[in-house]
Amino acid sequence: MNKSLRKVVIAGNWKMNKNVEETKLLLTEIKEKLPKTDATILICVPAINIETAMNTVIGTNINIGAQNCHWEKSGAFTGEISADMLKSFGVEYAIVGHSERRQYFGETDETVNKRAIACLHNNIHPVICVGENLSERENNITETVIKTQIEKALTDFTKDDIINSIIAYEPIWAIGTGKTASAQQAEDVCKFIRNILTEIFDNETAQAVTIQYGGSMNAKNARELLSMENIDGGLIGGASLNADDFANIVSCAE
Ligand code: PEP
Repeated sequence: MNKSLRKVVIAGNWKMNKNVEETKLLLTEIKEKLPKTDATILICVPAINIETAMNTVIGTNINIGAQNCHWEKSGAFTGEISADMLKSFGVEYAIVGHSERRQYFGETDETVNKRAIACLHNNIHPVICVGENLSERENNITETVIKTQIEKALTDFTKDDIINSIIAYEPIWAIGTGKTASAQQAEDVCKFIRNILTEIFDNETAQAVTIQYGGSMNAKNARELLSMENIDGGLIGGASLNADDFANIVSCAE
């Protein structure tokens, strides 16, 4: 499949930012500034603001997603939110395995796999994050790290499961640091990920999967990153909290 036939997904990750009023204000501003686009637009807000966010974007092409979910349907898991609960809200996308969850909340490749499968069972598209840290890159083991993360995250996946998922390549050293991977560095790893998908599934399936880049993407570097053959979108943290910046990134996806 040619890049132009794959789904382009521009996603914002608001992390732990914006209260209810601020959520309404920023989404209203984004609605006004967003250019017309064929790309899928997704904004992942804190779970407590999902309902407010969904109500604010009614009638637009903006999807509201979650930033995490638990794999069990219900039970004694204080503080957690299940994929089943997200589904009952009408959520169709959830980030799983973000490096901040791996770093601060004990997320492992195994729990990323469980969360992704729970999403798929609830018709939620998981945005599965993978990425190497700085010392792994400096020690030239990026590909080994990414291969392990992908293989473990996709354990027991069917072809339909991977086609309904999004992979986000997010080098940890580029997240929130202002340091972006060069377009070629990002392309090399996204292409490597697509090759792993070919090995696990087949070429036709691998060609259909949306692979995003994330890590200090902004209005200045988005066009070059998004023009690369194997980069089908962006997962954007900091710049998604500014309506002008987010809208400018979306316009680069055309
Ligand atoms: C992210 O949170 O997934 C991210 C890529 O953040 P930033 O764009 O701020 O680097």
